[in-house]
Amino acid sequence: MTSDQHVLWSNWSGSQQSHPQIFYPHHIDTLKQITDMYPKVRVVGAGHSFSALAKTNDVLVSLDHLKGMLNHDAEHYQSEFYAGTRLFDLGEKLAVVDQALMNQGDIDQQSLGGAIATGTHGTGIELPCLSAFVSGFELLTADGSLLQCNPTQHTDIFAAGRVALGSFGVMTKIQLQNRPMYRLKEQIRLSPLSEIYQSIDQWKHQHRHVEFFAFIHAQDVILKTLDETLEDIQERKKTWIDEDFILHLCSELTRLCPLLNPYLQRLLNVAIQPSTVVDWSTRLFPSARATRFNEMEYQLPVDRGLECFQEIMTVLKRQKAPVFFPIEFRYVRADDIWLSPFFERDSVSISIHQFYKQDYALIFDLVEPIFLKYGGRPHWGKLHSLGAQQLRHLYPKWDDFMRLRRELDPHKKWLNPYMEQLLTS
Ligand SMILES: Cc1cc2nc3c(=O)[nH]c(=O)nc-3n(C[C@H](O)[C@H](O)[C@H](O)COP(=O)(O)OP(=O)(O)OC[C@H]3O[C@@H](n4cnc5c(N)ncnc54)[C@H](O)[C@@H]3O)c2cc1C
Repeated sequence: MTSDQHVLWSNWSGSQQSHPQIFYPHHIDTLKQITDMYPKVRVVGAGHSFSALAKTNDVLVSLDHLKGMLNHDAEHYQSEFYAGTRLFDLGEKLAVVDQALMNQGDIDQQSLGGAIATGTHGTGIELPCLSAFVSGFELLTADGSLLQCNPTQHTDIFAAGRVALGSFGVMTKIQLQNRPMYRLKEQIRLSPLSEIYQSIDQWKHQHRHVEFFAFIHAQDVILKTLDETLEDIQERKKTWIDEDFILHLCSELTRLCPLLNPYLQRLLNVAIQPSTVVDWSTRLFPSARATRFNEMEYQLPVDRGLECFQEIMTVLKRQKAPVFFPIEFRYVRADDIWLSPFFERDSVSISIHQFYKQDYALIFDLVEPIFLKYGGRPHWGKLHSLGAQQLRHLYPKWDDFMRLRRELDPHKKWLNPYMEQLLTS
């Protein structure tokens, strides 16, 4: 448990670094001893957030050893996990008891606690973010209490604390509402932008999941749909190129020679072939993301998403923005979690990625005003420039959340400088 040394810590993309004292407790009792002992503590999951949420030079507690399934309810398809469980591990454990998550995002490397605390989501107009499938959690608070929070106990903390960025305390155990395991059929093809503008509004209701990836200089986008199926497993065909290798290579080439960008992006038609794959949901949702990047993502009111996307494409193209990575466009259903970016609002989610070796500020500064113009709310785990003053106007329950946070943590044990700027300045 002990660690007197301050060591270098970095998030996944390498954009956030600090020198905390890191602890890896194996038991909740030990976790409690650590949080009792130190005045300033942050908790970290897999460190996959792009923003400085977990960055600290004080104490950082990793929940890597607080993992695994505690129990499950076969009749109601519910389960309870330690919050440090990684999503890939959780998927495997759920499969043994014929359960699966309702939805997942692009990767499954995150910890359950980290994914929940930031409102991590996939795509699907009928499917809310992962936090909305939490039916209860145990919270270690600043005064050392372990609170059971659910729709009948500590109801306000439950309502707000499912997306609280670790500002209420440490979620130690999380209960989830799942469903029986299911197979999905993934279909990927190129689609002209004109077809997207014409049809995506219908497609979002016709498919369980729909999303697309748009390159600023290409006329076609990569369109991906996923639908539930009873068909037999159909393996992914080996392709002559590794997509991640191509992405890395093109990012390097366009970084060194930006003039190549339009030509390489237009070669997409050669690289992307239509494909169909059938597999279990937990195997199909996550993709490999080996090429590192930094990301900004905003959630827009669903009826303004396409307009916002169009303006972003126009501006990035006009400015000859040095970015090879595609823009990702997804749908997320509304929820009732106080600081969820999807609070009471069906949303379109738009993400801008920049290769980790390139300056992301250049691109993000161009698109952020557009996101804000369309009423966007930033993804908590991704990069944005907003502080408490601006965020307050985006969330009707902001003041209620802050009151609760102050009651739970009057001495700001859980706040690092970034969190202070985010929640209190
Ligand atoms: C390659 C990549 C792909 C991604 N794809 C998606 C995607 O498809 N959809 C999406 O929505 N997001 C996506 N993200 C963002 C990611 O899901 C979130 O940033 C998520 O928070 C990361 O989980 P983590 O375990 O790494 O959390 P961390 O980054 O380690 O922590 C995030 C926050 O959660 C808090 N926290 C962690 N554990 C607990 C706990 N037990 N109790 C209380 N608070 C806790 C931390 O204090 C911190 O504030 C992606 C990120 C990367 C790098």
